[in-house]
Amino acid sequence: MIGKIKDLSRKDKKAFVIGEPIDHSLSPALHGFWLRQLGIDGSYEGFSVPADYLARTIYKLRDDGYAGGNVTIPHKEKVMLLCDEVSERAQKIGAVNTLVFDGDKILGDNTDAEGFAAGLGGFKPKKAMVLGAGGAARAVIVALQELGAEVYVSNRTAEKAEKLAQEFSCKTIAWENKDELSESDFLVNTTSLGMESQPELDIDIKSLPDGSVVYDLVYNPIETDLLKQAHSLGLKNISGLWMLIHQAAPGFEKWFGEKPETTQDIYDHLILELNKRGWKQA
Ligand code: NAP
Repeated sequence: MIGKIKDLSRKDKKAFVIGEPIDHSLSPALHGFWLRQLGIDGSYEGFSVPADYLARTIYKLRDDGYAGGNVTIPHKEKVMLLCDEVSERAQKIGAVNTLVFDGDKILGDNTDAEGFAAGLGGFKPKKAMVLGAGGAARAVIVALQELGAEVYVSNRTAEKAEKLAQEFSCKTIAWENKDELSESDFLVNTTSLGMESQPELDIDIKSLPDGSVVYDLVYNPIETDLLKQAHSLGLKNISGLWMLIHQAAPGFEKWFGEKPETTQDIYDHLILELNKRGWKQA
C-alpha cells in the first residue's frame, strides 16, 4: 500500500532545545503536549550540544529550516554572541533562552522574567526577598522590579549579592539573616537548594506576615521543604513548574503560530512525565 506522499516543498514546523546535558529537560514533553493538543504537525527536539559546537549547531539548525528553539544551561550567555538581535529584556537579564530564526537572522530573547511573573497569578509583591544571586535571580529581579516591588537579595556568597544589588539598585540581606522576613510579603528561592540531590534550603519562614506568597523555582521535587513550610503556615505557595510552563509559551507561539494553554492540564501532564521518570514528588 502506498502511504501518504509528503509535500517536500512544505517546511515542517520544527523547534529545538539545546543544552548540555539535555536528557533531564522537560521542554520536549511540554511542547510535545501542546503540539498534540493543538493538532499542529510539528516537532520539538532536544539536542545535547557541547560548548565548542554551539555556533555550528545553531547555524545548521537555522539552515535546516527550524523556526527557532530554546537554549538552556550552559549556553544561555554564550549564545548571545551568535544573535543578530538581542531583546532589551534579554540584555538586561544577561542571557538568552529563546531563539527565533527570521530568514538568516537569529533573534534572541529571554522569557524567564515573564514566565516567573505569570506564575504569580496576578499577585503583586511590595517587598520581595530573593534568595540567590545566580542567573535565575537576575530574571526574577527584573520581573519583580517591573511589578513595582522593592527587592532584597540574600546570597551565600555575599559579593555576588552586592554586585547584583549595585546593578539592579536593590538592597542586600546577609545570608545568616535570611529568615528575618517580618517586613516582606513575598519570598522566592532562586538557589538550587532543595533540589533533588542538593542540600536542603535551611530557612524558617514563620516570620512572614499572613497573606504573604512563597515561590520556589526548584520543581524537583514538586513540593520542596520550603513550599511545605509555606503550606503548613497557610501561605500561598507556587511551584517553579509554573514558571517553566509560562516561560515556554511565548516561544511556542512564535515558532508554531498558536498560543498554547497554560492551564492545569499541562501542569498535570508534566507531573505524569516526572512520575514516569521517577522524579521525587515530595
Ligand atoms: P546558578 O546561576 O548556578 O546560581 C545558583 C545559586 O544557588 C547561587 O545563588 C548559589 O549561591 C546558590 N547555591 C548553590 N549551592 C548553594 C549552597 N550549598 N548553599 C547556598 N547557596 C547555594 O543557577 P541558576 O541558573 O540561577 O538556577 C538556580 C535554580 O533555579 C536551579 O535549581 C534551577 O533549576 C532553577 N530554575 C528554575 C527555573 C524554572 O523555570 N522553574 C528557571 C531557571 C532556573 P553562590 O553564589 O553562593 O554559589
